[in-house]
Amino acid sequence: MNCPYCNNEETNVLESRGLPGSEAVRRRRQCKRCKKRFTTHEKVVNIDLKVIKKNGKVEQYDREKLLKGVGKACYKRKVAKEDIENLVDDIECKLLNRKTVEIKSSDIGKLALNRLRRLDELAYLRFASVYMDFNNAEDYKQFILAPMRITNQVNNI
Ligand SMILES: [Zn+2]
Repeated sequence: MNCPYCNNEETNVLESRGLPGSEAVRRRRQCKRCKKRFTTHEKVVNIDLKVIKKNGKVEQYDREKLLKGVGKACYKRKVAKEDIENLVDDIECKLLNRKTVEIKSSDIGKLALNRLRRLDELAYLRFASVYMDFNNAEDYKQFILAPMRITNQVNNI
């Protein structure tokens, strides 16, 4: 969603509200460059993306699911709702720019982790404990000790 004033691509979502009885979402956005605010009515586009789960099942990508997962990790943390929306926007942007239409659910998890780390340390660890399939405390420790491992893996997604 480009800024209507300066055409900059990067905007923050300040507020999101579903419009009753329709698939559209009303978003209040602010341009990261010129700081002007504007409202958009966006149709909820279903990203045509297949998510391959750990058990091999294939599912249609679901934004709500990702929002919920990240939201849960941020429960009672000082993370604004718009930060979570922006994080998911960011991930979708990345997903749309890939050449394939399939992605492993664990890769989406890693993309989210990489961004959560910058947002809130505890939310990051919570999310990791759900998505990284730790088997024991040692796995967890390794993960905490080597945060760059995720970043490196994310670069290859
Ligand atoms: Zn602008």
